[in-house]
Amino acid sequence: MAARLEVIVGPMFSGKTEMLIAKLHRAQYARKRIRIIKPAHDTRTQGFIASRAVNPDGTTEVTDTLSAVMVRTEQDFMRVVTPADFDVLAVDEAQFFPLDEPLKDSLGWFGRAIRALLRERRDTHLHIIVAGLDMDFAEQPFGPVPGLLALADSVEKLTGVCMVCGSDSGYISQRLIAGEQQLVVGDVSEYQVRCRACYEPPGIGPRGVVSAR
Ligand SMILES: [Zn+2]
Repeated sequence: MAARLEVIVGPMFSGKTEMLIAKLHRAQYARKRIRIIKPAHDTRTQGFIASRAVNPDGTTEVTDTLSAVMVRTEQDFMRVVTPADFDVLAVDEAQFFPLDEPLKDSLGWFGRAIRALLRERRDTHLHIIVAGLDMDFAEQPFGPVPGLLALADSVEKLTGVCMVCGSDSGYISQRLIAGEQQLVVGDVSEYQVRCRACYEPPGIGPRGVVSAR
């Protein structure tokens, strides 16, 4: 018996939340007590986690939801996890929890809190499942997620369908709008899943040709 951490990563529209929800439904069938949290920074859905399907016309549709507690600060997080009356803790969109400024480590308060919880309840059946983007639009590690990948007992790295060539190896969320800011909460009008061949890094045009500025 030991607490464990499972991390699910991949680009947008790769089915991370769908996989998280499927695991939570299984936990519910097994009569496990679940708690779900989500960063309050995600303004798209408040109070629940939602899996979405992309329709042929490019619009998205919510396919399944579970209610979640919105967390903004470390204090909020501690309030949610202090009564240890849960067996499964699920966290969606974990990339939105910020790292420290100035940078202290690759975990930030959220990653350190997850590590502390695993240490504190190490000889229990606690199962923590964290889902999020491991990489931002510029191929940079995103928030505390890469640090949590290092701490994880198991990792699932998902791919999406490339929205340019249709291959199943979509690995990054290509931003379609200008700007260097890492946190831009968006949907299909702002982001597209792309494979490595179709990805255009910021400031570089298609196929590695540096675009004129
Ligand atoms: Zn492609």
